[in-house]
Amino acid sequence: MHAQGETGAVLDVDTGAIVANWRELARRHGAAAAAVVKADAYGHGAAAIAPALARAGCATFFVAQVAEALALRAVLPEARIAVLNGPAGPQVAACRAAGLVPVLSSLGQLALWREAGGGIAFLHADTGMNRLGLADAEMARLAGEPALLAGVEVALLMTHLVASEEPADPANALQRERFARLRALFPAWKTSLANSSGIFLGADFASDLARPGAALYGINPTPGHANPMRAAARLTAPVLQLRDIRPGESVGYNATWRAGRHTRIATVGIGYADGWPRVLGNTGHALFDGHVLPLVGRVSMDLTTYDATGVPGLAEGSRVTLVGEGVAAETVALWAGTNAYEVLTRLGPRVARCHR
Ligand SMILES: *Cc1c(COP(=O)(O)O)cnc(C)c1O
Repeated sequence: MHAQGETGAVLDVDTGAIVANWRELARRHGAAAAAVVKADAYGHGAAAIAPALARAGCATFFVAQVAEALALRAVLPEARIAVLNGPAGPQVAACRAAGLVPVLSSLGQLALWREAGGGIAFLHADTGMNRLGLADAEMARLAGEPALLAGVEVALLMTHLVASEEPADPANALQRERFARLRALFPAWKTSLANSSGIFLGADFASDLARPGAALYGINPTPGHANPMRAAARLTAPVLQLRDIRPGESVGYNATWRAGRHTRIATVGIGYADGWPRVLGNTGHALFDGHVLPLVGRVSMDLTTYDATGVPGLAEGSRVTLVGEGVAAETVALWAGTNAYEVLTRLGPRVARCHR
C-alpha cells in the first residue's frame, strides 16, 4: 500500500474510506452533507480527496481561506466551494472570478460582497462560539433593513456548535434554540448547523446541509463510544538505522533517556519538521507487526528514536506505524496533550501522501 523505499514519512490515505464515511454521515444526517476540506483535507490531501467526494455526489466543499479555495477550484471545476473565513477586501474580485461562495460573518463583509455585485453567499450567525459570525443585533438589523441584502442571494444560513462532541453539554440545546430564533427571521433561507459530532446529536440538530470534517477522516465524532467511522489513513516512517547500546548509554539530544539494559534503538525518519510533535519526547510508542516500540529520547527535527529491543523481523528499511491501526490519532493526541485534529493537520509537506 505505501511506497516502500521512501526515506521519509508517508501518509497512506484510503480515499474509498473517506467517501464511505461521507455517505454514512449524509445517511445519518438524513439530509445533504457538504465536506469540510480545509487545511488540505485535515492533512489528507484535498486535491485527491475532494474530486473523489465530488464524484460520489458531494456538491458543497468548505475551506477556511481564499487561497485554499482557489487551489481547490483547479480540481473542482463545478462544485460549490465556500470560504469559511470570508474574503478580505482585496480578495473579493478573485473570489468572484473563481465563482467561490463567501461565508459572510459581519455586516461589513456583507457590504463588501453587496457592493462588489452580490450574488450567492452564505451567512454565518454566531450562537455562542463568539469567534466568527453575525451577532444577534446584526441579524435583527438585517431583518429590519432588507436593502442591506440587495442583490445578495443567501443560499445558506449557518452557525457552528461549540461542544457538539459532548452531547450532555447544555450549550448544544441553547445554540439550537438561538439558531431557531434567527432562522425564524428569514424563513425562506436554507440552513446549516451540524459539524461531524453535531450529526450524532440527533434529529433536532438536522438542517439542510451538514458540514462534517473530522469524521470524514476517521476521527471519532462520538468520543467515549465506539468509533462509527472507517479508518482513513496510516502514518508510517522508515527505520533508517538500528543500533545496539549498552546499559548506561543515552539516546538523543540532552541525553533525556538512558538505557537500563542492553537495548536496540531504531532511528526512524520522522521529526518535528514533519509535524511529529516534539512534546512526544519519551512518550508513547510506534507499532511494528503488532509489537510496541516505546519512543525514547527527544523527538528531533528529522528523526525520532524508538526502543526496538526484541522486536522480531524489524530491519533497516522496515516501516513502523506511528498513526493507524492500534495507534489511533486520538491516542497520539492524548500523548501530545492535544486533539486528533491537530495531530493530523500538523503533518507537513515533507510527509508524502499516497492515495488509493
Ligand atoms: C472546521 C469546521 C467544521 C468541521 O468541523 P468538524 O468538527 O471537523 O466536523 C464545520 N463548520 C465550521 C464553521 C468549521 O470551522
